[in-house]
Amino acid sequence: MERRVRVRFAPSPTGALHIGGVRTALYNYLFARSHGGDFILRIEDTDSQRFVPGAEAYIIEALKWCGIKTDEGVEQGGPHAPYRQSERKAIYLQYAQQLIDSGNAYYAFDSAESLDAMRKEAESKGQTFAYNYQVRNQLETSLKLSADEVRQRIERGDQWVVRFKMPENENVEMDDIIRGHITINTSTLDDKVLYKSADQLPTYHLANIVDDHLMEISHVIRGEEWLPSLPLHYLLYRAFGWTDTQPQFAHLPLLLKPQGQGKLSKRDGDKFGFPVFPLRWVAPDGEVSAGYREDGYLPEAFINMLALLGWNPGTEQEIFSMDELISAFSLEKVSKAGARFNPEKAKWFNAQYIRKCDDAKLAELLLPMLAEKGVSTTVERAAKAVSLIKERATFPKDLLPLTEYMFVAPSSYDEKSVAKFWKPENVENLKKLAVKLAEFDKITAAETEPAIHQWIVDNQMSMGQLMNTLRIAILGISQGPSIFDICEFIGKDETLRRIEAAMKANG
Ligand code: GLU
Repeated sequence: MERRVRVRFAPSPTGALHIGGVRTALYNYLFARSHGGDFILRIEDTDSQRFVPGAEAYIIEALKWCGIKTDEGVEQGGPHAPYRQSERKAIYLQYAQQLIDSGNAYYAFDSAESLDAMRKEAESKGQTFAYNYQVRNQLETSLKLSADEVRQRIERGDQWVVRFKMPENENVEMDDIIRGHITINTSTLDDKVLYKSADQLPTYHLANIVDDHLMEISHVIRGEEWLPSLPLHYLLYRAFGWTDTQPQFAHLPLLLKPQGQGKLSKRDGDKFGFPVFPLRWVAPDGEVSAGYREDGYLPEAFINMLALLGWNPGTEQEIFSMDELISAFSLEKVSKAGARFNPEKAKWFNAQYIRKCDDAKLAELLLPMLAEKGVSTTVERAAKAVSLIKERATFPKDLLPLTEYMFVAPSSYDEKSVAKFWKPENVENLKKLAVKLAEFDKITAAETEPAIHQWIVDNQMSMGQLMNTLRIAILGISQGPSIFDICEFIGKDETLRRIEAAMKANG
C-alpha cells in the first residue's frame, strides 16, 4: 500500500521566521497538497537558551497571511498532539534510554569546564576538539566507568548527557530526493548530545527523529543547513529499528544574497532596503525589522515569488496561484544550486498581482488613504478610479498619488510642464476646446475623445500640445493616464471648472 504523505514544518521559535523558512513551509505545503497528504506544524522548542517569546505566534500568523493552512499543529491539535516539543518532554527520555540499552548511546559526565579545557588545549595545538570515537573511551563516560560508578553518579545528582555512539568507520549510504545518493564515512562525525539531564530535555536530533517517527512523517523537506545532520539521522533510525518507516529526505537549496555568494541575511535586507521577513517583527530588545506584509506586498505575490526561488515549473509560466502551484509542484524540479534573491523581481510580482486584483478590493485599500486626505467617496467611484491606473502601481500605497487628482482639483501646477506647454497659442486653443466641450451633454472617452480629436485636426491645431495643456489644467501635470478617461470620471462640469481655474492661476 502507498504510504500516506505526511510532512511537517518544524521551526524553532528563536525569532522572526526568515523568508527561507517560509519557503520551506511552502514547499512542504505544496508537496502535501499535491499528494492529498497532511501538512503539520510542529514547534521545536527544546532549546530553552534560544527560545524567544512571541516567535511561535509570529510563525503561525505568517503562515496564515501566506495562505499556508496546517492540518495538524499547535493551534488545531490532531491525532499526535501535543505538537509543541516542550509539551512532549515526558516522551523522550525512554528513547534515550533505549539507545543506551542497545549500545547505541552512552552517558557522559564531562563538566562544561573540562570540555572547555579540552577544546582550548586542542586549539593551542592548532586542532579542533571533537567528541568522538578517538576520545570517548578515555573521558568521563559510561564506556569507561563501571556500571556501579555510573549509577552512583546519577543517583547523587551529577549532571549527565546522553551521547550517540557514532560507529568508528562505516560508510553511511543516504538518498536525497533533490541531491541523489550521498555517502559519508562516520569517521568524520562526532558523538552528538541527544539528551541533557540539566533541563531534562532532548536535543534537536533526538526530539526530531522521535517525533517524525511517532507522527508518521513520510517526507522530511528542509533547508540545506540540515544536510550535515543526515548521517546521524539515518543512524538514529537504524538504531531505533525504524528504518522501514524512515521518511524520505529532501534538502532544499539556500536562498542567496542578491549579489554574489552567501546566504541571504537580515543584514542584506537592511543594506539594500528589502524585508527578509514575511511580517514586521519587533525583537525583544525593541529592534524592528521590516515585513513584506507591512511593506505593501500582497500575500499571493509574495508566495508566487518565493515558490520560484529554487523551483521551476519547466515552462515559461511565471504567474501561479496557490492552486496552480499545487498542481505544478514537484520536488524533482527543485534545484540543487542556491537561488539568488532578487528584490526587483519581488516588486515585479507585486505589480502583476495589483494589476490582477479586483478593482473593488483595491478600492477598499484606497478608501482609507483618500479619507486621510479628507476625500470621501463610494467604493464604486474608488473602484472606477483604480481601474484607470492600477497598471501603474507596484504597491497599494501608489494608488493614492495615482488617483488623488481624480477626486481633488490641482492646487498647484507642475512648473516644468507649465514652462513647456502653457504657451499663449495653446492656452488660446484650450479656451476654444472648453467651448467645444461645453457643447457635449457629457464627456465620455468613447464618444467625446474621437470627436475632439477630429475637431483638433479640422482646426489644424497640434494634438500633442493641446492635449498636454489640457492635462495640466485637469491634473496639474502633463503626465498620467488617458485624459479623456479622467474627464469622463470627473464629469463635464468639473472638467470645465478645472480648465477655468487653470486659466486663472497660470494667466
Ligand atoms: N527545528 C529545525 C529548524 O529550526 C527543524 C529542522 C528539520 O526540519 O529537521 O529548522
